[in-house]
Amino acid sequence: MPAEVLAQAAAEMLDWHGSGMGVMEMSHRGREFVSIYEQAEADLRELLAVPAHFKILFMQGGGLAENAIVPLNLAGRRAGAMDFVVTGSWSQKSFKEAARYGPVALAASNEADGHTSLPPPASWRLSPKPAYVHLCSNETIHGVECHELPDLQALGCDAPLVIDFSSHAASRPVDWARVGLAFGGAQKNLGPAGLTLVVVREDLLGHALPVCPSAFDYKNVADAGSMFNTPPTYAIYMAGLVFQWLKRQGGITAIEARNRAKAALLYETIDNSSLYLNRVAPDCRSRMNIPFFLRDEQLNAGFLAGAQARSLLQLKGHKSVGGMRASLYNAMPMAGVQALVDYMREFEKNPR
Ligand SMILES: *Cc1c(COP(=O)(O)O)cnc(C)c1O
Repeated sequence: MPAEVLAQAAAEMLDWHGSGMGVMEMSHRGREFVSIYEQAEADLRELLAVPAHFKILFMQGGGLAENAIVPLNLAGRRAGAMDFVVTGSWSQKSFKEAARYGPVALAASNEADGHTSLPPPASWRLSPKPAYVHLCSNETIHGVECHELPDLQALGCDAPLVIDFSSHAASRPVDWARVGLAFGGAQKNLGPAGLTLVVVREDLLGHALPVCPSAFDYKNVADAGSMFNTPPTYAIYMAGLVFQWLKRQGGITAIEARNRAKAALLYETIDNSSLYLNRVAPDCRSRMNIPFFLRDEQLNAGFLAGAQARSLLQLKGHKSVGGMRASLYNAMPMAGVQALVDYMREFEKNPR
């Protein structure tokens, strides 16, 4: 979270804009909260240039719930399988979960190289008429990012592309012409946990399977302006403050340029070192989540202890991958990345 946003939320905690209430105490249907909601939605639409024929839904359940909610809404649209491109842990989970709701097919996988590449779209084996094609556009654990979304139409496929953009939403623009639905838990880049963002093309609404819970039927949520049931009001308010912060930074183009520079500095440091290593193919290295290894794994504990002593926190890699991981979300300033690479160079000279 940007420090500025946390400070603003703290200042408004007990009394929001002289209303005599904190945001947590407001009715979600009262005019104060409705104004917060509408501003957040409008700001997000502007920031991400979401076209008018897409609905923005503020839901709950996180990315993992969407792994079920997406098939519950889209599997029944037409008979074909749900196609999955598996590029890491998150798309693997999506693939497994969807299989509970209908036929699935594996269109491509990078498992053979340990999830360090992105299979080129021309190599995907798509089903004849898939219900949709799922891609995790940034694999948070393996650090694999899709820098240009595939053009399914150019591949002769008329199915909607579904992207899980949980861990890089609002870090870069989205090419909506290539997307049918995008979902993401808010907690990586948009705000606190508890809010799930869904951006869905209108023609994909209204096809939910009969067993789909009413509160997870995108059409119900869209028709009710995300108020079919009580939405995560405080998380929406916080995300709204983040959206305003993003606008003050110059919007998505400016934040993308900053993210590019931050990631370039860290990858350069890794690549120019004889101690650190990143195994991801250069054309699909994530700008948000950068896993790296110490060639001598015995040094891991010392590296982390030294980092902690400098307030460089949460660098331990995911347990399934090991090593280290630096997550350079929007709110991480360049100074934070500079402090990390300064420490890495110093540690390399004098490892212990
Ligand atoms: C974190 C993450 C998720 C999981 O989201 P939850 O909100 O914990 O359910 C799903 N997909 C990706 C790509 C993630 O990074």
